Amino acid sequence: MELLESFLVPKATGKAFVVKAGQILRITQPDGPQVIDFDAFSLGDPREYLLTSATRRYGPSHVTVGDLLWSGGLRERPMFTIIADSVKHQSSDSGAITHDVVSGRCSQSSRNLRYATDTPGCQEILAEAIAEFGLGLEYVHDPFNIFMRTGINAQGKNFWEDPFDVKPGDYIDLRAEFDIIAAGSACPGLSSGPGSRPFGVEIYAP
Ligand SMILES: [Zn+2]
Repeated sequence: MELLESFLVPKATGKAFVVKAGQILRITQPDGPQVIDFDAFSLGDPREYLLTSATRRYGPSHVTVGDLLWSGGLRERPMFTIIADSVKHQSSDSGAITHDVVSGRCSQSSRNLRYATDTPGCQEILAEAIAEFGLGLEYVHDPFNIFMRTGINAQGKNFWEDPFDVKPGDYIDLRAEFDIIAAGSACPGLSSGPGSRPFGVEIYAP
């Protein structure tokens, strides 16, 4: 693969960027576990966007190689195919699995409720990132939570735990099925384990 573009997204910030049809988007973990709240839109009409409920309808609630990320809204179709995942997935007694399409996203108000801190969450970080493409706060949607380890407990409640199976150097590769605006937020929440880190973005020609 030919590397076209590469950049780091600092901790607790976000970035939006274009991935063209057929290109491969690699999301990396340069310094260790960092959950990325990942949104995506059709470049042609952003009212078509990554729909996690459609992704779960046709696939698992935790995705890996061979799984599809689906769009919805104006149109429903495969948006990305996961073609590589370096995480050595490890099971635990809790049943939690890494790479979540269940948990949604944090926000300033959820952080206020949970941690009594009036600071931006992924909702606001993603909104700031996609503003570069003229998209407002209302375009932020439930994300693919890359490297987030979650499960559903015996009481039916969604929970998360430290993504202990994610190591420095890990990556996941998404092949774009059409032209896409992608956006990632380095989640400032506590689901990445101790500390907050940057993540890397690499875009390759096929
Ligand atoms: Zn978050």
